[in-house]
Amino acid sequence: MPGLFRCGQLASNVSGSRSEPGIDWNAGRRRPASRRCPISFSSEVKSELSGLIPARPCCQLAELTGIFYSTRGRLIRTGSGNAAYFSLLRNSVARKVVRLSRNLAQVDAKYHAERHAKRTAFFIEVPLPPALEPGFTIPAARALPPKPCDRKNFFRGFFLGCGSVNAPSTRYHLELVAPTLGWATIILCLLHEAQVRAGVVERAGQHVVYVKDAEGIARCLQLMGGNRAVMEFENVRVVRDVRAQVNRRINFETANIDKTIGSAMRQVEAINRLEREQGLETLPPSLQEMARWRRENPELNLSELAAQMNLSKSAVNHRLRRLVEISEGAPEVSTSAR
Ligand SMILES: [Zn+2]
Repeated sequence: MPGLFRCGQLASNVSGSRSEPGIDWNAGRRRPASRRCPISFSSEVKSELSGLIPARPCCQLAELTGIFYSTRGRLIRTGSGNAAYFSLLRNSVARKVVRLSRNLAQVDAKYHAERHAKRTAFFIEVPLPPALEPGFTIPAARALPPKPCDRKNFFRGFFLGCGSVNAPSTRYHLELVAPTLGWATIILCLLHEAQVRAGVVERAGQHVVYVKDAEGIARCLQLMGGNRAVMEFENVRVVRDVRAQVNRRINFETANIDKTIGSAMRQVEAINRLEREQGLETLPPSLQEMARWRRENPELNLSELAAQMNLSKSAVNHRLRRLVEISEGAPEVSTSAR
């Protein structure tokens, strides 16, 4: 691989980084402040996940292979044996690959960054000791590690390689653009096992595993160990849910108020018509009383009116209905008015 160099060789031109003092991970990536885009939620999540290094070698291998397969990594022959070759588009993930391989196999990865028009690509070559090689040649159908600890780390690696997640303030959506249908199926199984509702869709010839409900996305973030991401996601989600609930309530009440006012207006009109055409004193006392109450309290609904008049709701309803019926020409049956 032309242009590759060992991480250690960069030591001479470093600006320094907290965890990898020998490497300038920002080389070739800095842009003028005016051209910097706001950091997306997805980037924040990936930065957090990239900073987590599992303690056990089995988990480290699982995560490294997750990144390898999800980014269509390949095995290449080198002078001293086989190496896993990664092409990545994210600095923090590239850094993680180097750190994982150093922890796992005590090997120094060769690292090379290339700046293109819009983004930087990171190429990493990890020399593989023979004991680790089988982990990088598994077909998708047998790739899911049997141990739960390794599955979580494998999933985290896979997400770092080909996943993204929308900010919780927008549409709930997490997806992984799997390299093949086989891999999409494996990830789908893994998610179903973790009680996450997920689906697969084909988009522009690629198989995309997606999760669309807030609970499922929170579960995925939790599965990958992104505690900060879970907290931020849940905070926004709670505010969003409460807001939706309040809106639903307001809509419901507005509709009810409209209904109450609508029928109250009709009743008041009926009462006014009765007064004009025949005089309210021609009505039985119970209806006269009702007419007076309704005219004075057009804003009250049935229950409120009933409470004020010390009557049952059905009695009030019956009297108001009678007033409307009489005003529309229905025969007056004075004895039926309760
Ligand atoms: Zn493990």
